[in-house]
Amino acid sequence: MEKMIRLLLRAADIVFMNILWCDYANIIRGKAIHRNLFEQGGSFPVSISKAQLGVSACGDYVVPESPCIPVGEIFLKPDWNTLRVLPYLPGYASVYGEMTQWGQEESIDPRRFLKNALKELSQYGISIKAAFENEFTLLNKVTGEPIDKTLFASPSAIMENGPFIARLGDALEMQGLEVERFYSESGFGQYELTTRYSDALEAADNQILFRQTVHGLSAQFGYAATFLPKYAQEQAGNGCHVHFSLWKENRNLFRDAFGKNNHPDLSESFVAGVLENLPSLMALTVPSPNSFHRLKPHCWSGAFQCWGVDNREAALRAITPPESHCAGAKQNIDHFELKTCDASSNPYLALSGLILCGVLGIKKGLALPPPCQKDPGSSTAEELARLKIARLPLNLLECVRAFESNSDFNGFFHPMMKEAIIAVRKEEYRKLNALSFEEQTALLKDRY
Ligand code: MG
Repeated sequence: MEKMIRLLLRAADIVFMNILWCDYANIIRGKAIHRNLFEQGGSFPVSISKAQLGVSACGDYVVPESPCIPVGEIFLKPDWNTLRVLPYLPGYASVYGEMTQWGQEESIDPRRFLKNALKELSQYGISIKAAFENEFTLLNKVTGEPIDKTLFASPSAIMENGPFIARLGDALEMQGLEVERFYSESGFGQYELTTRYSDALEAADNQILFRQTVHGLSAQFGYAATFLPKYAQEQAGNGCHVHFSLWKENRNLFRDAFGKNNHPDLSESFVAGVLENLPSLMALTVPSPNSFHRLKPHCWSGAFQCWGVDNREAALRAITPPESHCAGAKQNIDHFELKTCDASSNPYLALSGLILCGVLGIKKGLALPPPCQKDPGSSTAEELARLKIARLPLNLLECVRAFESNSDFNGFFHPMMKEAIIAVRKEEYRKLNALSFEEQTALLKDRY
């Protein structure tokens, strides 16, 4: 460990440094290292069993079909770029631990996987910027009830809960996220706070920090936060839409090239690849059985396999720039938003999957169908068939099967990683779907 980092941790009076990872159940975990270990300098091995990638959200046991068994160690090597002093918890810091084995990067590490996906994309001379748009529900820790009954963008949420919101904004800023907007969302106790886009790896790292910070700060206010996609059947779900743009040098391809020619450019093919592979991708972006309670028509959650310009019911919304508003046109797009994503996803896997689907689209030179400029949930079955718009899978198993049989993915995924993800998803489908909605949310609400 570099002397400078040691000195920095000492100056910040850090007692514990939490080495984080996010597993295939998409749960964030950490092993906290006391300063007795890191103050001496040198290395301080932190290891986990490979079996940690074989656990599901149902509980801490290795799922029977997982190839990640309790034999073999993974070492967590801090990526110091991700070191943060936690502004909401004096004496603590966190850092993301990259998985290594025998000193080599571990190929089943979700973060490493994202780095590989970015390399795939870079072969086409393009890069991606992204941001996760988080919604979450704040519950009273004692009663389990939402902390307010405010609706979308109610100023009273700020009146009632201003100190929490301000501290959350500050805490995120102090960890390097750029906060942009806050408003209460439609669900009771449901909040949304958006942060600025960045390079994809940073966006995924930020998502870990975001989830951690909301939970950490909530605990201090007597709240229990949950990012669970659907906490209450009758309330709006918690989405975590992915906003993304593609860049060549310093040019945003959606602004400069998308829809400008008769043939599809790289950015159009990328989006077409995401659209085409969406049922498989959903195994990574809406990966919990609970996710499917959220994915309903008329909920702005992306339940239909279509894209549309400024269409909040399309799975892929093309967002027009404010200065050249021209709804309905294929041109004049600033960036895209994937709505079919929630925060029960592992941000590294979700972004990797998105990128790989996009790369498949580029490889095949796919073109987008015409945009859907109406609410597909209000269309008749005949109309949807004519427009070739499908309702997206209604349950996780369908997505896992699509993911499993998608042979185009094979070249990308390490076989053990793919097998382990499938094993975890199937276990969650089996066990969690056997529960009532109330039992399911009670079990999962603290996990996300
Ligand atoms: Mg929202």
